[in-house]
Amino acid sequence: MADVHNKETRSYNMSRIKGKDTKPEILVRKFLHASGFRYKLHVKELPGKPDIVLPKYQTVIFVHGCFWHGHDGCKYYVVPKTRSEWWLNKINGNIENDKKNKNFLIKLGWIVIDIWECELKPQNIQQTLVNLPPKILSFIDELH
Ligand SMILES: [Zn+2]
Repeated sequence: MADVHNKETRSYNMSRIKGKDTKPEILVRKFLHASGFRYKLHVKELPGKPDIVLPKYQTVIFVHGCFWHGHDGCKYYVVPKTRSEWWLNKINGNIENDKKNKNFLIKLGWIVIDIWECELKPQNIQQTLVNLPPKILSFIDELH
């Protein structure tokens, strides 16, 4: 049985498994830092342990892998043909958790920004990053 994942997806999945400092997330962090935003990482006390926390802006950012978090309609979300049910269980569980954590965070007064791995691919990353600071700042405007 051939592996249905292309090389790119597979290597991404592997990096996701290995540790929390995956590459797409680092790209976002570097950009935010260069843009003058200060943040905390992987705050355990918050629901879902958000990847990036901007306390000053009451904003948290999750950088989701399209595969593990089941990015709806995304080409990087392809359920393997083997053990499909097992994968679906796993991924649907992640989707449920993401939803729960997000609702919980919103109740606690946090603004939640989701960034998908596919939005950080070379052809999309510039647009995604450029849009980020106005997004963060527009939220803070609404709070005050
Ligand atoms: Zn995606």
